[in-house]
Amino acid sequence: MPSYVIVEKCDGCKGQDKTACMYICPNDLMLLDKDGSMGYGAMKAFNRDVSMCWECYNCVKICPQQAIDIRGYADFMPLGGSVVPLRGSDSIMWTVKFRDGNVKRFKFPIRTTAEGSADPMGGFPVGDGDIKSANLMTEPASCGADVLPTR
Ligand code: SF4
Ligand code: SF4
Repeated sequence: MPSYVIVEKCDGCKGQDKTACMYICPNDLMLLDKDGSMGYGAMKAFNRDVSMCWECYNCVKICPQQAIDIRGYADFMPLGGSVVPLRGSDSIMWTVKFRDGNVKRFKFPIRTTAEGSADPMGGFPVGDGDIKSANLMTEPASCGADVLPTR
């Protein structure tokens, strides 16, 4: 289910050209209603196409005002359960509230590699360069094989 902005908390990222939620959304869904003419209130962000939101939580995690939440799927957070991230400088604390009232917290580091040092290929050579090949980017080496079976 899609993200939504809690308008009382959103401060429009204090009038910056691009808000944090606009910057982070991989689907380019978040917009800022600068002058309120779109009906969301001046300097309030909104999700412009909820049908395209895949609930990745990026906007929820990055919002400095904790002004974004996700309408959860009933099987994921049923009947009043909630999942709320709180971002620190080096970690995110997830607070998970279950429908029986139980609350659990999980803390994870924001990243496990130094910024700019991630190797997207995992050390494997890029594949065969054949666009018609059935192999994925680092295959067959990342599968531990010289050749992968084909039909
Ligand atoms: S990141 Fe948060 S505070 Fe900033 S515009 Fe988006 S919803 Fe509002
Ligand atoms: S949950 Fe993900 S896809 Fe949906 S609006 Fe936020 S950043 Fe975009």
